[in-house]
Amino acid sequence: MNSSEIDIHKELKKYFGFNQFKGLQEQVIKSILAQINTFVIMPTGGGKSLCYQLPALIQGGTAIVVSPLIALMKNQVDAIRSLSSENGIAHVLNSSLTKSEITQVKKDITSGLTKLLYVAPESLTKEEYVQFLQSVPISFVAIDEAHCISEWGHDFRPEYRNLRHIIKQLGNVPVIGLTATATPKVQEDILKNLDMSDARTFKASFNRPNLFYEVRTKTKNIESDIIRFIKQHKGKSGIIYCLSRKKVEAIAEVLQVNGISAVPYHAGLDAKTRAKHQDMFLMEDVDVVVATIAFGMGIDKPDVRFVIHHDIPKSLESYYQETGRAGRDGGEGYCMAYYSYKDVEKLEKFMSGKPVAEQEIGFALLQEVVAYAETSMSRRKFLLHYFGEEFSSETGEGADMDDNVRNPKGKKEAMDEVVK
Ligand code: ADP
Ligand code: MG
Repeated sequence: MNSSEIDIHKELKKYFGFNQFKGLQEQVIKSILAQINTFVIMPTGGGKSLCYQLPALIQGGTAIVVSPLIALMKNQVDAIRSLSSENGIAHVLNSSLTKSEITQVKKDITSGLTKLLYVAPESLTKEEYVQFLQSVPISFVAIDEAHCISEWGHDFRPEYRNLRHIIKQLGNVPVIGLTATATPKVQEDILKNLDMSDARTFKASFNRPNLFYEVRTKTKNIESDIIRFIKQHKGKSGIIYCLSRKKVEAIAEVLQVNGISAVPYHAGLDAKTRAKHQDMFLMEDVDVVVATIAFGMGIDKPDVRFVIHHDIPKSLESYYQETGRAGRDGGEGYCMAYYSYKDVEKLEKFMSGKPVAEQEIGFALLQEVVAYAETSMSRRKFLLHYFGEEFSSETGEGADMDDNVRNPKGKKEAMDEVVK
């Protein structure tokens, strides 16, 4: 069947049971079906997976999906398999497979059964796999979390830099890049490194009108300030981000002593404790999780009501991703960051041990955070501008949802003086 004759609404219903496309999905899918290189920028939860899954399912050949995390790949493969009676419809190809499993995967691809093949970027560099993939029809290559290709992104993976070279060896296949990282710099890097400046770009708005943004001056009373805030939001779920594991432990303890149900989460805890604390939060056995940025990736709790940054984040991108975990259900999401210039200096000192190129990027990203913290303009406008998006602080959705807009200047400036 010619791809232009496919009724993609019918296919959407058939495979996923959804009646409508979300946001830009339909346009993206049409672009992919037309074999055009495509670049998709949508916030987390925007529905990027379906943009490549649906075209893969309805086209001939196998789509290769590059994804950085084995756990994410496994989840997606399980989800796709649940849509079909054939297990072979989706596979993961990685180093954990046995010889006979690899044989099965290859058999399913060769017979045309496999529509989606998930691979980690490092597996794709294996000569053996490349040779095999050259011998079978590939519908397209989708590169999920494409910001991993950029040093300006929040999750740089050097292996992503080899992808273009490998894809070229597969012949003339369309490439789809997808990311939730909205900064123009990262986008430029992705297009350049994937050599797809001709790509048709689809960018959704990153505005989250239900999130309220506030920056508070960090003083030595920060702990009682946080406690007061949480008590005002009694019974609500929230996340508190701290820079260090030590601080995570300390704050969790202070909260517990003050009668707030809270657990710590950081990479220094063993896997079992981490899983337990995460589950307690998801199941609402505790209200608050105090965490380093190790917490949050792939966490989908719809009713997180506040995200507090005890220390400033290292970039506005991280800040956006971390605060983005609040109010997923569209309800209230209070995002509060504590700011003091001392913390900036601490972060700078911390970075000074790194390679020069990394330092420069780190400092530049941090300067943007400082500018955000110190601005007296609409915080939403500032954030969205950083992501290359125009926002009207008069008529835009959520325009009055921040401290600067609610309490313009004057009072605030006087307070800022106290910090320095
Ligand atoms: P992203 O990768 O952009 O963060 P996902 O692909 O994980 O987002 O999708 C987020 C959620 O949206 C998933 O639960 C998915 O099932 C749902 N979703 C995607 N497309 C649609 C749609 N057209 N209608 C309803 N729900 C959708
Ligand atoms: Mg995704």
